[in-house]
Amino acid sequence: MSAKNELAARIVGLRRIDGQPFDPPCELGFHCPVCKYDLASDGEYDERLEWSEYNGFLWCSVCDEDYPSVLCIPDIHRAIKIYLICVKEALDLKKAKSISWIERIGGVFSKR
Ligand SMILES: [Zn+2]
Repeated sequence: MSAKNELAARIVGLRRIDGQPFDPPCELGFHCPVCKYDLASDGEYDERLEWSEYNGFLWCSVCDEDYPSVLCIPDIHRAIKIYLICVKEALDLKKAKSISWIERIGGVFSKR
């Protein structure tokens, strides 16, 4: 794996590139947590943020850094809500994996 952030790649995985394209992050209200700039000027959005190669991350072309998308939400209450949704999705995914593991084990025993 040639990913720059091995920890992110291992934990959240790489974003699928064959899916439906999203709107640009700036149009959804995301803002680089490090750069100081206006989200839009003269009616044009600042497009420094792009969807990262990692799930749930955004990439800033100025910083050349990937940030968890929840850190790119200026509205702290919305950020907390999205963080909790991400945790829930991770827990649901973990639960689904352990259920399929139990089903596989059950399948082994049912053949006897
Ligand atoms: Zn930046």
